[in-house]
Amino acid sequence: MRLRHKPWAKEKLMQYPQYVIQNPEEKKGKWRNVFNNENPIHIEVGTGKGQFIVGMGKANPDVNYIGIELQDSVIVSALDQLIEEELPNVKLLNFDGENLKNYFEKGDVERIYLNFSDPWPKNRHEKRRLTFKSFLKLYEDILINGGEIHFKTDNQGLFEYSLKSFSEYGLLLKYVSLDLHKSDFLDNIMTEYEEKFSARGQRIYRCEVQYQNSIQKTEVLNERMSE
Ligand code: SAM
Repeated sequence: MRLRHKPWAKEKLMQYPQYVIQNPEEKKGKWRNVFNNENPIHIEVGTGKGQFIVGMGKANPDVNYIGIELQDSVIVSALDQLIEEELPNVKLLNFDGENLKNYFEKGDVERIYLNFSDPWPKNRHEKRRLTFKSFLKLYEDILINGGEIHFKTDNQGLFEYSLKSFSEYGLLLKYVSLDLHKSDFLDNIMTEYEEKFSARGQRIYRCEVQYQNSIQKTEVLNERMSE
């Protein structure tokens, strides 16, 4: 997401520690204390301006949400929405999703959302895609057993790549839609990019995938080998 540089953004993010977690390493394994409840934690990597994570927080008060975004000039818009809505169940992290293991331990997170992730179309940039196998391992290391990834994109190439990557990793494909806005999925909360691309008539792809335990994973992989 390209945006005007906002030199004041970093300072503003620091002024709202109730919404923007400044020292996530210290919260590792203790996120229940941050939210003051035992509700499940869902995170979004690459939250952008936060329309999705704030919308989800409003729609599902019994789930805790954490939006993670690299760019301070972008995530500051998510903070503005949180200040307005005063949601206790949504927090923000202005950090790199590559370092998730520094902030979360195994079992801290129940679900990961990836929405309109940067496609990195060149082959030599494959490792940067948030659905590359090293990221899938990273997510596995912080998710509960049987945790899920919910992924949306307008980019057909990235979607096809990601389905293959999920499948090769042994993830179970629970739900796939090749045209989300014409599907029967009713609980969709649109992201900023989703609004922009669907207004141009572009279709939106969506899937839900689930991690398997090692026995289930071997079964899934064996089944695929025999196809
Ligand atoms: N999810 C939003 C939406 O759908 O409107 C934003 C999509 S934008 C194409 C991708 C966002 O992911 C950018 O804001 C970018 O800064 C962020 N991003 C990319 N890699 C990231 C990483 N490793 N950690 C955190 N954020 C990342």
